Amino acid sequence: MLYHAASLQNDNQVMLPLKLFDTYERRVREFIPLVEGEVGLYACGPTVYNYAHIGNLRTYLFEDCLRRVLEFNGFKVNHVVNITDVGHLTSDADTGEDKMELSARETGRDAWQLADFYSEAFKADLIHLNTLAPKIWCRATDHIVEQIEFVVDLETKGYTYRTSDGIYFNSRKLNNYGYLARLDVDGLQAGARVQLGERQFVTDFALWKFSNAKEQRQMEWDSPWGVGFPGWHIECSAMSAKYLGDFFDIHCGGEDHIPIHHTNEIAQTEASRGTRLANFWMHGYFLQVKNAKMAKSTGDFLRLETLIEAGYSAMDYRYFCLTAHYRSQMSFSWESLTANQTALARLYLHAYEWGAPGDVSSDYLDRFIAFINEDLNMPRALALVWDMVRDDELDPGTKKATLLKFDEIFGLQIAAWQPGISEVPQAVLDLADARTQARADKDWQRADELRDQIADLGYAVEDTREGPKITPRAT
Ligand code: AMP
Ligand code: ZN
Repeated sequence: MLYHAASLQNDNQVMLPLKLFDTYERRVREFIPLVEGEVGLYACGPTVYNYAHIGNLRTYLFEDCLRRVLEFNGFKVNHVVNITDVGHLTSDADTGEDKMELSARETGRDAWQLADFYSEAFKADLIHLNTLAPKIWCRATDHIVEQIEFVVDLETKGYTYRTSDGIYFNSRKLNNYGYLARLDVDGLQAGARVQLGERQFVTDFALWKFSNAKEQRQMEWDSPWGVGFPGWHIECSAMSAKYLGDFFDIHCGGEDHIPIHHTNEIAQTEASRGTRLANFWMHGYFLQVKNAKMAKSTGDFLRLETLIEAGYSAMDYRYFCLTAHYRSQMSFSWESLTANQTALARLYLHAYEWGAPGDVSSDYLDRFIAFINEDLNMPRALALVWDMVRDDELDPGTKKATLLKFDEIFGLQIAAWQPGISEVPQAVLDLADARTQARADKDWQRADELRDQIADLGYAVEDTREGPKITPRAT
């Protein structure tokens, strides 16, 4: 049976249930929104003391997939992303310096300008990656009042204590502190007595830090406890409550947020509002480089811009990310990025050559929905695309319409693609240059080998008066 592409919008409503992995319950379970037809989605945003690296961007691509799948299922998504522009310290033990202030000092720049600059750079990356814009962007520094009110409430309810450097959350007051991460809090305490400082318990964390007179902070505010700045975790409890309420559908972030940041957000909200903040907790796993987490703080990281300068497109990186499930760590390598770039170039060309879209194949669409609704199984959904490419029974128009439907989730901008030299992967251009050189050297055998390698990557090279002409070839 074939559906007309235009009529599918409503058919999406009657499809398989959507199932998502909830870190809180450690299982895949059916997603049912708290309010019919609507989803509150909060994603922890970047700390804007530096550019985002492609690992950070992998997490935002996972969240974009989630948003698209929710919308595909017919839900209206209230998507909120914060910008951490104050309070994230260099050490998770609430010691060390505020990353923003440190970066401002090291670069001799103004902390506020720095925050603006990197926020804009981050948003530009997301636009390049064709992610759907959140409904609300919220900055920590724009919500100081809400954060202070939250801390006052925790204080009134008896969950805080004061040390010489700030107001701390007393994690012992909650019976189930650390449940999200299944923390062994007694074990942690036993192992960390020496690092406690004035904190009473190792899992206690700062809600408000006092400005240090010697430090001369650029970002600081008055508060009932003295001049200072909010702790990192309180911003997300305060801003998510403001925009999505005390209990909303889904809260996301990267896997590193499970044991500390999200654990502490839950603790604050449980103490103040009596809820565990979100019905589903979802986490994207790390992009690794040479078996280690890609991290901003090491300075050794790749930006989207770095990939683009090396001849890859933002869509190549998007495709690369789709090849791994969001709940598995993924290794970055240039070889694998190149292989995925080639695959995407082939897919674009097939889609282009299929011509005008006809009707969507309901068989393929059903299988696709089964994959995406089973905890966002993008690698399987992508494999299905290649099954469809090879399916001789399906006519080109059906393939085209079905692929365009799938692209509502993939976000690979398939409809917009046109063949042109700019799409030729760098690896192919490099081989073509080497071939030109081989011909100049009259090394015909080498030139033929290079032509074969170019063909293996899905391109044909033709020698014209103007020089070699490279065109994609459908295989
Ligand atoms: P940050 O700017 O450090 O606050 O991180 C922004 C987001 O990127 C958070 O959701 C982190 O959990 C996530 N993240 C950090 N490093 C990686 C990585 N190597 N791979 C995937 N996500 C990451
Ligand atoms: Zn957060």
